[in-house]
Amino acid sequence: KLFNEVQELKGNIRVHCRIRPFLPGEDQMSTTIDYVGDNGELILANHIKQGKEGKKMFKFNKVLGPSASQDEVFKDIQPLIRSVLDGYNVCIFAYGQTGSGKTYTMTGPENATEKDWGVNYRALNDLFHISRGRRDTIMYEPNGLAVPDATMHPVNSSSDVIELMRTGLENRSVGATALNERSSRSHSVVTIHIQGVDLKTGATLRGALHLVDLAGSERVDRSAATGDRLKEAQHINKSLSALGDVIFSLSQKNAHIPYRNSKLTQILQNSLGGHAKTLMFVQINPDVSSYAETLSTLKFAERVS
Ligand code: ADP
Ligand code: MG
Repeated sequence: KLFNEVQELKGNIRVHCRIRPFLPGEDQMSTTIDYVGDNGELILANHIKQGKEGKKMFKFNKVLGPSASQDEVFKDIQPLIRSVLDGYNVCIFAYGQTGSGKTYTMTGPENATEKDWGVNYRALNDLFHISRGRRDTIMYEPNGLAVPDATMHPVNSSSDVIELMRTGLENRSVGATALNERSSRSHSVVTIHIQGVDLKTGATLRGALHLVDLAGSERVDRSAATGDRLKEAQHINKSLSALGDVIFSLSQKNAHIPYRNSKLTQILQNSLGGHAKTLMFVQINPDVSSYAETLSTLKFAERVS
């Protein structure tokens, strides 16, 4: 293997929990987070521990606290991303309620400078950088697209990709009037196909990297949503739980993996399970008013990790 670090990543499913910092205007005194350990432990605050939910301690492969930088977040997963060049299929997801930092982690804030760049840009930059030094490596166009309405574009540099991603973001389904709610009603999937050559054997290696900014995981109030909005919410909930079921079945090494229960899992089928590697960023808010969603997010994450 060209990248020894890959072997240190045990198992094929990893979960990194990221707690976003308080935003201006949020009450900093009311956090739900009691403790973040160096080994992936996370404890919800005291007054909540005594609630009827009972469960309070969670353990993930990693917990990134509110002060974690974009660079730190990326460094942890860089070996995983590079394994695409060794022919692996890799899926990176961001899961969490709207406003928990999914897009911040995957893409970065709006008008990001290089230091705020998210995983998408850093991954692309890194892969282009390495492939430039390996003449046989190309980003190619496979035949047949699994996604209706998806488009395929040749790219020669990370700035080409940044341009494409921008267009993609602008085209995300608009289900709400508020601009900042646009992205919460749809999943965004960016896939990069890479073909390389095994430097020892000369064999062709093909890998794919899927970068997925999932729709917001919050349960939509049935009394508040009607018509198309309700239908859309039900679709989203269904596809997120189908994704959870697939990852859970994989982690249990079940014989039957229920890929067919949603479009999302069908599209990603070849990159979930088998020799593929999966990493999920589980995003949570630090404030007490998000407690119910935070708990449901942590439970989702605990089940798949
Ligand atoms: P989501 O995509 O889950 O709906 P966003 O990524 O849009 O959430 O984040 C919500 C807000 O919080 C945005 O204003 C974003 O810039 C800010 N934010 C999220 N994570 C961080 C972070 N780690 N550091 C600073 N600001 C953050
Ligand atoms: Mg978002």
